[in-house]
Amino acid sequence: MLNIVLFGPPGAGKGTQSENLINKYNLTHISTGDLFRKHLKEGSDLGKLAQKYMDDGFLVPDEVVIGMVDDKIKNTPDVNGFIFDGFPRTVAQAKALDELMSNKGTPISGMIALEVPFEELKTRLLERGKVSGRVDDQNEEKIDNRIKVYLDETLPVSEYYKEQDKFSAIDGVGSIDGIFEKICEVVDSLSVEK
Ligand code: ADP
Repeated sequence: MLNIVLFGPPGAGKGTQSENLINKYNLTHISTGDLFRKHLKEGSDLGKLAQKYMDDGFLVPDEVVIGMVDDKIKNTPDVNGFIFDGFPRTVAQAKALDELMSNKGTPISGMIALEVPFEELKTRLLERGKVSGRVDDQNEEKIDNRIKVYLDETLPVSEYYKEQDKFSAIDGVGSIDGIFEKICEVVDSLSVEK
């Protein structure tokens, strides 16, 4: 199986490139942000709990996120592989993911990080806020907080994958197609354990 962690700050283009990867490699998308938004729309208890954190750009507690991903993996057997988008966002989540995948007998193949300067991220997120309706995209203070949370809590996750020799970085500025080509070069070079 091909199991990819797509990594990067808010607004780096993970959602867009995930769509491209799913189509090309026939992978199952696990976006924790999308899963939380789905719960929120459905008005579930999980959605209500997550909303308190999401609206201001704080992380939902690890045990909640990990439980949700565990469920999703268990409920989607017989897949070609997974693309994790917006997860893991803390080192504790990365460790938990390794355990979940090792129980499934299929490790993470690699992490691909999209690198985008912070000023560009802010511009992109504010633009997205005009159409997405997402509360967390509509306010500069909330965006600054998400970037701070990313630097403090999420960036160390890249070190975790570097230590396992599973890390690749890609310049996330340029055309969507051009960036996707560079991502595919990395994906095609990954060693995939069956
Ligand atoms: P973005 O990458 O644009 O910030 P996401 O859609 O990935 O947006 O996530 C939106 C919000 O959902 C985050 O700000 C956070 O509150 C919550 N969230 C998503 N994924 C996680 C995660 N893995 N751990 C904790 N919180 C998460």
